[in-house]
Amino acid sequence: MEYQLNKKAIFLDRDGVINIEVNYLYRINDFEFIEGIFEACHHFQNLGYSIIIVTNQSGIARDLYKDEDFQVLTNWMIKEFKKNNITILDTYYCPHGPESKCNCRKPKPGMLIEAKIKHNINMKNSWMIGDKEVDIKAANDAGIKNTILVRSGHKTNEASSNAMFFLDSIKQIEQVILK
Ligand SMILES: [Zn+2]
Repeated sequence: MEYQLNKKAIFLDRDGVINIEVNYLYRINDFEFIEGIFEACHHFQNLGYSIIIVTNQSGIARDLYKDEDFQVLTNWMIKEFKKNNITILDTYYCPHGPESKCNCRKPKPGMLIEAKIKHNINMKNSWMIGDKEVDIKAANDAGIKNTILVRSGHKTNEASSNAMFFLDSIKQIEQVILK
């Protein structure tokens, strides 16, 4: 059995962080990696982090695309990461809508807590990188203090944000995550 006590992770939101934000994206043709994402992931791996994706996908609840569409896109994305020598440890998604009482839709911390338990993640040594305040809130409520809001996705109010750092995009990550 694989058992690592101090496994640390980088939790990445998907849209606006990994790929250019497109409303209710589900087609591979509409998916464009943000410049610098692969280099950033190499940096994470070199520092010993596992990489986990946590993404709200209410387009499924809204019937704009199917769960299967999300899976096809995710499998393709994981392969693209693989081609670039990057391993995504796991991908979590919430298929529910904003009115749902689920515990997985960010700002709820459900997806992060599930990942923590399944993969034995030390949340104190982990980071969340998102483009919305809901990412920061979910991380904080899951025990992650190290949070980064990137400006490559949605516009946010940085003055009222609880994020620890603000960056134009993941391309600048090496300025913040040093060890
Ligand atoms: Zn949910």
